[in-house]
Amino acid sequence: MGEFDLIDRFFRRPVRRAVLGVGDDCALLGNTAPMQWAISSDMLVEGRHFLSTVDPAKLGHKALAVNLSDLAACGADPTAFTLALALPRADEAWLTRFSQGLFNLADAHGCELVGGDTTQGPLNICITVFGQVPAGDALLRSNAQAGDDLYISGLLGDARLALEVFRGQLALDAHDFEAARARLETPTPRVALGRALRGVANAAIDISDGLLGDLGHILQRSGVGAVVHTDWLQHPAQFDAQSVGMSPVLAQLPWPKRLDLALAGGDDYELCFTAAPDQRDAVLAAARESHTPVLRIGHITAESGLQVLDPQGEPIRRRFAAFDHFAS
Ligand code: ADP
Ligand code: MG
Repeated sequence: MGEFDLIDRFFRRPVRRAVLGVGDDCALLGNTAPMQWAISSDMLVEGRHFLSTVDPAKLGHKALAVNLSDLAACGADPTAFTLALALPRADEAWLTRFSQGLFNLADAHGCELVGGDTTQGPLNICITVFGQVPAGDALLRSNAQAGDDLYISGLLGDARLALEVFRGQLALDAHDFEAARARLETPTPRVALGRALRGVANAAIDISDGLLGDLGHILQRSGVGAVVHTDWLQHPAQFDAQSVGMSPVLAQLPWPKRLDLALAGGDDYELCFTAAPDQRDAVLAAARESHTPVLRIGHITAESGLQVLDPQGEPIRRRFAAFDHFAS
């Protein structure tokens, strides 16, 4: 039983009072108000989602960033969050750094800590975020249309690359490692882009488990397929905030490794979204307005299935595994 089968079998129930329940990046509550609440929880577990050696300030940042990323995927504005913490001990220096990292990001998004729970136990951080979106305007996984363009934001693959260096599976020089490591440890939630894409994009998801796996959730819930091009994995971008596609660090790796990391790496916290071709100018305007680079990498098809094409346009037939906590 994989992670998503488990959720479906034991925890998915028909919604009663919610507008949208289990299965999207956020749940939606509040049918009648001019604004709806978008709500999402994400947990970080030591040894599973982060290494025990990570800078606590970066951990505080990431714990909130991965949650804000789900609000971004729905086009919601962050409002508030709760923090449930299990801590092995009350370490003042650790708590000072952790809370600094957490609140720096929270304040940058005007997102307020309004409650939580604290207990002793193995280090575990669970945040629930609450955001607002005009009723009916939330970006969903379920509304991709055949013929839509398919886009990503930012750079893909570097977070997973850093993880593989940490695990000793790959080597990078110190400068490149630092650049990749920042992508793993301090991801930028694309809140401004998500907001700017309201009324422009048809469907969106944040990329937490690898592009193809997360795109698969859009395809499944929308009842469509997609074609994904990979020519953008031939031309490195710069390594800066305005870059999109593949970083120069990833570009040093052999082609199959680039494909694995960029298409099925995980921990990117970029957005993957679809929009009608007549919205191309509006998508570029949303990217400019939000200072977030985007790249068109394919399109949505009426036939189901996900086809990945090599730069010559030939189908790549190998399998890409998305991250699944319970995959065997
Ligand atoms: P995301 O990556 O966007 O946080 P996940 O892949 O973690 O979403 O989860 C998929 C969907 O299942 C989401 O809608 C999430 O809210 C829901 N979900 C995950 N775990 C549970 C659970 N234990 N009970 C109810 N819903 C859950
Ligand atoms: Mg998500």
